Amino acid sequence: MLKYTPAKIKKRTIKTVRSIRTVRATLDSDEFGTCQKITFKVLATTIPRKVTIKLYKPELIGKTLYQRPAWVHCDCEWFKFFCEVALAKRNSSAVINSNGKPPKETNPREWPYICKHLVAVLPKLQRAKFKMPRIRPTQDDIDFILKEVDRYIPGV
Ligand SMILES: [Zn+2]
Repeated sequence: MLKYTPAKIKKRTIKTVRSIRTVRATLDSDEFGTCQKITFKVLATTIPRKVTIKLYKPELIGKTLYQRPAWVHCDCEWFKFFCEVALAKRNSSAVINSNGKPPKETNPREWPYICKHLVAVLPKLQRAKFKMPRIRPTQDDIDFILKEVDRYIPGV
């Protein structure tokens, strides 16, 4: 996706992106398999944007980022109108903010490229530390587990 991204967008990244904050980096899984999921808040010229990246095939950790299947999303207007449908068609994103129609005016050839916010976070990916997601048992879970334990360890 980066290699399909016009140089002008990469230049705009350097010119306009003011801050990048890592919000969360966890090991996750979905219909495409297990992945490393990371979200960022990226501030450029207007409001902070939420950027999400999922990297699949953990067995390829150690390969470069560009050799791993990825899913990306940004909630900016550029991504919505230019990138979202083109990437979703290649299973590299999903239709979330756009209407899902082909971008006839803005990206008629449906070129699979990314917005400046996504370009900005890529250097952060290599050093990100991914945690196991925190599981919070409900009171019901705890009661259930304790009851199960009592069944196997009677007395005490
Ligand atoms: Zn964006």
